[in-house]
Amino acid sequence: MNTERFALRHVGIRPQDLNHMLQTIGVDSLDQLIEETIPGEIQLDKPLQLDQPISEAEFLNHLQSVSKKNKVFKNYIGLGYHDCVTPSVIKRNILENPGWYTAYTPYQAEIAQGRLEALLNFQTMVSDLTGMELSNASLLDESTAAAEAMTMLHHLRSRDQKKLGVNKFFVSENVLPQTVSLLTTRSKPMGIELEVGDHRDFDYGTDYFGALLQYPGKYGQVEDIGSFIAHCQANNIKVAVAADLLSLVLLTPPGEMGADVVVGTTQRFGIPLGYGGPHAAYFATREAYKRHIPGRIIGITLDLDNQPALRMALQTREQHIKRDKATSNICTAQVLLAVMAGAYGVYHGPDGFRHIANEIHRKAKILNAFLCDSGIEQENELFFDTLKIRVENIDTVKQLAEEREINLNYIDDKTLSISLNEATTQKDLMELAGCLDGSGSLVDLSPYQSTSEDIFPESLKRSSSFMEHEVFNSYHSETELMRYLKKLERKDLALNHSMIPLGSCTMKLNAATEMLPLSTPEWGNIHPFAPVEQAAGYHEVLRKLEDDLTTITGFAATSLQPNSGAQGEYSGLMTIRAYHESRGDTHRNICIIPASAHGTNPASAVMAGMKVVVTKTDDHGNIDLVDLEEKVIANSENLAALMITYPSTHGVYESSIRKITQLIHENGGQVYMDGANMNAQVGLTHPAAIGADVCHLNLHKTFAIPHGGGGPGVGPICVASQLAPFLPGHPVISTGGEHAITAISAAPWGSPLACLISYGYIKMLGEEGLKEATKIAILNANYIKNRLEEKYKILYTGEKGRAAHEMIIDCRPFKQYGIEVTDIAKRLMDYGFHAPTVSFPVAGTMMIEPTESESLAELDRFCDAMLAIYGEIELAGQGEERYLQLLKNAPHTMAMVSSDVWPYEYTRQEAAYPLPYVADNKFWPSVRRVDDAYGDRNLMCSCAPMAAYA
Ligand SMILES: *Cc1c(COP(=O)(O)O)cnc(C)c1O
Repeated sequence: MNTERFALRHVGIRPQDLNHMLQTIGVDSLDQLIEETIPGEIQLDKPLQLDQPISEAEFLNHLQSVSKKNKVFKNYIGLGYHDCVTPSVIKRNILENPGWYTAYTPYQAEIAQGRLEALLNFQTMVSDLTGMELSNASLLDESTAAAEAMTMLHHLRSRDQKKLGVNKFFVSENVLPQTVSLLTTRSKPMGIELEVGDHRDFDYGTDYFGALLQYPGKYGQVEDIGSFIAHCQANNIKVAVAADLLSLVLLTPPGEMGADVVVGTTQRFGIPLGYGGPHAAYFATREAYKRHIPGRIIGITLDLDNQPALRMALQTREQHIKRDKATSNICTAQVLLAVMAGAYGVYHGPDGFRHIANEIHRKAKILNAFLCDSGIEQENELFFDTLKIRVENIDTVKQLAEEREINLNYIDDKTLSISLNEATTQKDLMELAGCLDGSGSLVDLSPYQSTSEDIFPESLKRSSSFMEHEVFNSYHSETELMRYLKKLERKDLALNHSMIPLGSCTMKLNAATEMLPLSTPEWGNIHPFAPVEQAAGYHEVLRKLEDDLTTITGFAATSLQPNSGAQGEYSGLMTIRAYHESRGDTHRNICIIPASAHGTNPASAVMAGMKVVVTKTDDHGNIDLVDLEEKVIANSENLAALMITYPSTHGVYESSIRKITQLIHENGGQVYMDGANMNAQVGLTHPAAIGADVCHLNLHKTFAIPHGGGGPGVGPICVASQLAPFLPGHPVISTGGEHAITAISAAPWGSPLACLISYGYIKMLGEEGLKEATKIAILNANYIKNRLEEKYKILYTGEKGRAAHEMIIDCRPFKQYGIEVTDIAKRLMDYGFHAPTVSFPVAGTMMIEPTESESLAELDRFCDAMLAIYGEIELAGQGEERYLQLLKNAPHTMAMVSSDVWPYEYTRQEAAYPLPYVADNKFWPSVRRVDDAYGDRNLMCSCAPMAAYA
């Protein structure tokens, strides 16, 4: 056996297991199973012609040599991105630790208390620094967060404002260019009129509902925005402020000046630049707006023992409930990065933050004093870390800087800006001075060291305390932080404990070799707005990844810009919109979406300015062709698109798919395919083969980027040739199609650092391995189906009775015994498993997706657990009260089971060690079942302050 084949490590099934599995399913060969599963007319008849696979060792060597093509300059470009220092203890214990990066979104709170606490720390840190009452647990990037703020303020217009059609949003010209571009994208379809101008000349007109400022401004100017905010408020205009979180350690936070929303990035809190991402953005606002906040909020509630417990609050599954009425389409966020940024806060604490912020500010003051002394004009009267400098000889400065591998932000032919950061050393400062004065030498800055004078007026100096909670004041030695992180990690069930069989979410292996390159500075320390030639290594990888994804989907072009699946949906629909507009079809605004679609679909369609028409599914889980045809014909004139998931969210390859896509085309629409289920297609069929025009891929599902507890994500869109000209562009770095729509993300290529993972995945599997992965994913799903179907009803299958790569089991029949699907989900924890997807796309069901990475032994353990639980349900159904009690009490904690009191009728062993395999590897939920409703009624979204412990 060739043990260097990566496919052998990625795929969990051993060759000797195959026969037993095929027999269980009742087929002679894997190929027969595939033939019976995927409709013949969409199966690919030729190879895709991807590269041959390479071994893990070869890949690491390859990527290291490509990384040398990146030039790691010192970055003073700023514009929302700064060099920083990732504490090694955080890098090793979080970023490089599968206990953290392979976790799922914390829907199952009882086995997710660790990351929930880490996110609560993040929220507390953000609320405190911004001076706001409430913060969410991350958005995709600063510009997206600003767009979400605009949208929220638009929704929050008063009744009068809505009646009068007040629709203008003012944006200061001091706002970052990428944010202005993104606001442009988002405002148009919503009918918001964007006005960019000098906020000092703003007239506070009654035709505005909101305004956005940058604090400090994009070139570093700090000014008192208090009176602007007050004037806005007096005129019913709500104010969002995009703020540099670190500067708020020293400056009066916008929340204390009356801002309604504060947004920004936490990148400089220890997160590598990564040529643009991933990084966590934050969104903080008033308590009064809590029901309108986009993304996830972590809140405190109680468990069955009335002990405090954490869980996702309020609109956890917002889009699934509100669908086309949802206020935002955000689903995957940036959880792992938020966890890291929060840990940076725990590690440094308020004193550490004061030191870091003061040091950065001091460096800026030293450089400023030198400039002043040298007669070089510095335009920012007040500044935190950024100086705006006028130079006569900008070419000389640029040349000197480049020779010293320094990136500055060149604004025009006379002006540049320099943003200093945590990583800037004294020698760096001396070098910078030598570039600016044209000498090229290391300038002696000792005369300026004592620049201790305070430049901020009292009104701008932060006087309030922050981060006084115990958690930010306890773990400042490495030993203490290491143990704190371990303590949290131990509370969480991640892929390094057992299978996470999440339908629609594809929790496959995230191989160590795919992850390793993320730790290196050649990939980590590239600024997204560095000259492209410095990122030659990145461009080699990104171009190849785009090409391979284009090939895999059968399309013509790919954009890597969207930072999540939902952003991909939005981008894809925006390219469709632009395409129709380019043909004069501006009236085409109807988007048909099946009732079973993921909630982000209708939410994205509405954001793209489309009207959603829902089409039914039939009893077999297929699109109801008669209903679809009716709706297409009725809307033929205005049809913009059909959004469809394939294989369907019911886990079926609909055989009429080509008929469906043809019908849409005949009526002038485009077909958007939601690619979340691409793991059932790669190498065997593709979106082009089913007749789609555009799809997004979730690289964090199908292409091995770890889930990170709810992000990062990468949601590229792949498009047919007619849509390629409209792929998204960027205002700072040129990218996208020739008629590019404006930006979708803050960075030109979204999150390049995470793209390295998918690049490795494809390189190491090659075409043959990718195909094998797809086939085994289908095999594993059908094996589980065959093992479970004697007891559980499988809701939908294909024409020949096969499942795709996932299946839905019906738990509604157990309701008659008073047993809900949630009881099964919680009981699975006692057996050491994370529940499958619950109640999507059908309420009262579970959707199981094993992926190709699981071994036969693990599949069997999972099936054994499910069948054992069925046995418990059966007994409960026969009137054995104690089994009902057992299911309702699940999950069982160690405290319960080891307590001196045991008031239950079932045994402790039945509770905690229901099957022999459990004893070997017991996972203890850290809290009892949480009470969601209590937490929503008593919303608490930050850590208790020190006073609460007194
Ligand atoms: C995961 C998923 C999405 C959304 O992707 P995000 O990356 O979470 O935004 C959309 N559709 C389906 C079917 C999904 O499973």
